[in-house]
Amino acid sequence: MALARTSERVRKSRNTPVGPSPFAVEAAPLPAAKFSDPEVTAKGEARASVPLVELETLWFNTGTLCNLACATCYIESSPTNDALVYISAAHVAQYLDEIESGGLATREIGFTGGEPFMNPDFPAMLSDVLDRGYEALVLSNAMKPLRRHEAALLTMREKHGDRLTMRISLDHYTQTIHEGERGPRSWEPAMSGLRWLSDNGFQIAVAGRLPPGETDALARAGYALLFEGEGIAIDAQDPTALTLFPEMDETADIAEITTACWSILDKHPADIMCATSRMVVHRKGEAAPRVAACTLIPYDPGFDLGATLDEASQPVALNHPHCARFCVLGGASCSA
Ligand code: SF4
Ligand code: SF4
Repeated sequence: MALARTSERVRKSRNTPVGPSPFAVEAAPLPAAKFSDPEVTAKGEARASVPLVELETLWFNTGTLCNLACATCYIESSPTNDALVYISAAHVAQYLDEIESGGLATREIGFTGGEPFMNPDFPAMLSDVLDRGYEALVLSNAMKPLRRHEAALLTMREKHGDRLTMRISLDHYTQTIHEGERGPRSWEPAMSGLRWLSDNGFQIAVAGRLPPGETDALARAGYALLFEGEGIAIDAQDPTALTLFPEMDETADIAEITTACWSILDKHPADIMCATSRMVVHRKGEAAPRVAACTLIPYDPGFDLGATLDEASQPVALNHPHCARFCVLGGASCSA
């Protein structure tokens, strides 16, 4: 699906980032022959695929509308991009019903956007998930849309405790780099939201990113100082409490993943995200939601697996640059 280019999107946000993203990937353009055939790579080698082992986590994209328009938002969210419309609480309930009628072992429901708290149905669907006994993981920027729901969140925390985790995007531990990506005036509201969640005893986590040349250890040390100074109850050395994500750029060159890569890299298909998760999206113009292979590729028809969880239980061919750069290689090389 063609989406507005970043430069067009960001003009529509009050927090327009100024200048290039501090997280831009430096690589040659991706050759057109790569990632074009789900069966074989451009070199004619057998492309790797990932079977669904168990649907442990089902994600819902709540809609692409967001209060921000970050420079390299992988899903191209903005205050005006509704390519993925607000999913309804009724549609979410249908998929939860399918999990239960199918006897699936799903334990966690994730919500991502856009900004989930902009969806008017979001409190209802989150309550439904928690009332049914699932763990809920909510990805948010902790800014104004979340703060409008403080009372409802406190009630849910009181009722469900640590089954509700809020994972807040804080792209860097410095205001300068965070705002270079997210735009001016995006730092203090996010920090305020994070402090509010911490002060009120929520189970919290942070999602950060590594600028080019910064090591994992340096970043964790930087976040640790920030969390300590701000009184935020997160252990920056714990990789589940502070997740540092590799970069994504589907236009930049990257090696394709062949079946031989698993042994070369000493990785196993079962360790890849789409072995244990799927994401439900409601695309604009479609009557009902669909199930995508993962959270990273919501628009590509090649990663649309069907209308139901049952249809979406088929293996996924790793036929997208994100499969290589984000999921499998993560900075490693797969050349024999
Ligand atoms: S806050 Fe998240 S969803 Fe919104 S534009 Fe930024 S990266 Fe995208
Ligand atoms: S990007 Fe590719 S490998 Fe990664 S989870 Fe999605 S489909 Fe699977």
